[in-house]
Amino acid sequence: MSPTYDVIVIGLGGMGSAAAHHLSARGARVLGLEKFGPVHNRGSSHGGSRITRQSYFEDPAYVPLLLRAYELYEELERATGREIAILPGGVMVGRPDSRTVSGSLLSARQWDLPHEMLDAKEIRRRFPTLTPKDDEVALYENKAGLLRPENTVAAHLQLATRQGADLHFEEPMTRWEPYRDGVRVHTAEDTYTASQLVICPGAWAPRLLTDIGVPFTIERQVMYWFQPKRGVEPFLPENHPIYIWEDAAGVQVYGFPSIDGPELGAKVAFFRKGQVTTPETIDRTVHQDEIKAMADHMAGCVPDLPGAFLKAATCMYSTTPDEHFVIARHPAHPESVTVACGFSGHGFKFVPVVGEILADLALTGSTEHPIGLFDPARLAAAPA
Ligand SMILES: Cc1cc2nc3c(=O)[nH]c(=O)nc-3n(C[C@H](O)[C@H](O)[C@H](O)COP(=O)(O)OP(=O)(O)OC[C@H]3O[C@@H](n4cnc5c(N)ncnc54)[C@H](O)[C@@H]3O)c2cc1C
Repeated sequence: MSPTYDVIVIGLGGMGSAAAHHLSARGARVLGLEKFGPVHNRGSSHGGSRITRQSYFEDPAYVPLLLRAYELYEELERATGREIAILPGGVMVGRPDSRTVSGSLLSARQWDLPHEMLDAKEIRRRFPTLTPKDDEVALYENKAGLLRPENTVAAHLQLATRQGADLHFEEPMTRWEPYRDGVRVHTAEDTYTASQLVICPGAWAPRLLTDIGVPFTIERQVMYWFQPKRGVEPFLPENHPIYIWEDAAGVQVYGFPSIDGPELGAKVAFFRKGQVTTPETIDRTVHQDEIKAMADHMAGCVPDLPGAFLKAATCMYSTTPDEHFVIARHPAHPESVTVACGFSGHGFKFVPVVGEILADLALTGSTEHPIGLFDPARLAAAPA
């Protein structure tokens, strides 16, 4: 008996929805299984905005993937008519030797990306809401901006459905096993067979991928929306860049222009500084002391931002020890299973290119994209 599907995709969040689109676009018979509803807010792909940029301080190895992701995001907007990318430009601010500035500059130089270096005076002149210290500088990138995560996921789900994928929501996978030359996947409702399995579990990786040798840390992260003190006008995208700002202690904060009208002000968050949690036990309440700490921090660098506190929301990072992704054939099941996880709080800007890579791996066993950095063997070999 031949399997019912060519590929089953587990998790239809950021990465899984993109995989379902790219797989079904290539004619594969796809089943997608998702624990929650379409475009939900209980994983890692919600909150209205995600930063995108090309001068990547994390590692220049990400740049070719970013260039492809920019193309694919444009295609996604054209194919669905949804607004996904808003690109007002961005500044990576800090001391010249901070990772945020020096790493961004390394990528920009290595890949010949358009950029400008601004000293503190020039930052204040160009972007009057930003008040850098005299020894701080910025790398300005005109291609940086933000992506709409909910619209991205909705767009990929829409295209996958149009291309014939079966997408089942509120139907979590309970377990899977190798079966004949492929896999068998169980849910409370049914059992399905397929030649290939693609697992995109987000913060559920510690549960679903116990056997790939990667020690994940799930972190609770908070996003904050404040009413700018002098109104939203100076914070509108035509006046305001996205920013990532590293202070002398190495704390990174990042923020967005005002994109959802005055009632939602502008969003800001700490890049890391999360608390260790699990999807089952995460504290979804944002506490007064957290709000105060965020407002106090912003008073030092974007003093017009923290007027009235408007709202906050929690989200989860799935972090690997070196903060690089895991995208590979499953080490124990290299013939039939592909995994994409451990996006360590910086995966969203890669969503469509990860979908393309997962389709390559599941359908052909390899990809032309440079994914050597994401091999889980690097972590299995290192002490945890
Ligand atoms: C606050 C915050 C800010 C961020 N900011 C940025 C940013 O500015 N730029 C950037 O590039 N990235 C950013 N990120 C990171 C980025 O959003 C994530 O890397 C990305 O969304 C991860 O996508 P995912 O598909 O791995 O996870 P998810 O989108 O969470 O998808 C995983 C899915 O798997 C489902 N699932 C789990 N178990 C099962 C099961 N057993 N059966 C079926 N389905 C299952 C879940 O319900 C979920 O829908 C941010 C993340 C957070 C939390």
